[in-house]
Amino acid sequence: MARPVPLIEATDRGLACAAGGFTIDPWKPVDVSLVTHAHADHARPVAKVTYAAHSSIPLLRKRLGPDLELRGVDWGEPLAFGDTTVSFHPAGHVLGSAQIRVERLVDGPNGERAGETWVFTGDFKRDPDPSCEPFELVTCDTFITEATFALPVYRWQPGEVVAREIFDWWQLMKTSERPAVLFGYSLGKAQRVLAELVRFTDEPVYLHGAVYPLTELYREAGIHMLPTLPIDLADRKVDYRGRLIVAPPGASGSTWMRRFPNASTGFCSGWMRVRGNRRRRGYDRGFVLSDHADWPGLLRTIEQTGATRVLTTHGQSASLVRLLRERGVDAAELTTRYSADDSEADDAAQDAAADTVTAPPSADAPDQTVQP
Ligand SMILES: [Zn+2]
Ligand SMILES: [Zn+2]
Repeated sequence: MARPVPLIEATDRGLACAAGGFTIDPWKPVDVSLVTHAHADHARPVAKVTYAAHSSIPLLRKRLGPDLELRGVDWGEPLAFGDTTVSFHPAGHVLGSAQIRVERLVDGPNGERAGETWVFTGDFKRDPDPSCEPFELVTCDTFITEATFALPVYRWQPGEVVAREIFDWWQLMKTSERPAVLFGYSLGKAQRVLAELVRFTDEPVYLHGAVYPLTELYREAGIHMLPTLPIDLADRKVDYRGRLIVAPPGASGSTWMRRFPNASTGFCSGWMRVRGNRRRRGYDRGFVLSDHADWPGLLRTIEQTGATRVLTTHGQSASLVRLLRERGVDAAELTTRYSADDSEADDAAQDAAADTVTAPPSADAPDQTVQP
């Protein structure tokens, strides 16, 4: 019998599984989608029916609107789709983030039936994170992985070490009576910081309008975080000196920042591992905290899955594929629309829209945020 078509293929709509009649993380209209997590580049309102992990549903509802048909799935629950069996497994990336396992029976060369298993990671990380379910290792034949930080320079310190750096910076700003404005993605990163900081304090943190409602959803899901307060730009009485403020990257350099004169700014991202990035983006401090696997984490995970074939979806795919091929692994890049910047652009657009209404009107020139 001829070699069957790949179980999952990158099409112009998303990662499609013809045998199962579904598409994973689609970017164009489809009937049935399986969505790994609620970041904008993976979750778009394009399917008639969308399946996702239960803990992802409130976040998807918030981001994709009230009309979408969403169906929650338990971790590990086997679902029959066409000739396949599908299950969702924690990816450790953000709350509710899933790897998707797809299995089908195939005819072997002598007519025997044999199983074939594929896993798509979505985005994932291996490091402990108090704000989401821990990564679960799932063995497979073909492993489709993200490659956001697939370069040897990307190695992470434990979250609690980075949280200590953030806390120390905050305390320093308290001493010098300046606001400490920390930028990080509004879904996932912000809540992880708030959960990691519980170790050091119980002081409330002020949140940008794009971060606050998502944080409330995390709290409703039972995630233990510092107490938080929404920022009301119209309320001129609040004194933000010595306060920690968490905002999405899109708010940096916007008129929103005028409410926090003399603020020290920090950015929380895996990209801060590369020294020039902090200066180029104009932040005073860079904190290397990522919701993706680092280089050793990626390689270890690929090995532990036991996969004989590895396909990459986004990020430093070329570098990872080259290394795997050198090691004799069957590896290739897939073309997708997932963003290596982890939805920063999409989030920035959404976040800007969320707060322009309340920003104070001003005819001043935009703040200079880029340092030479
Ligand atoms: Zn993501
Ligand atoms: Zn991604």
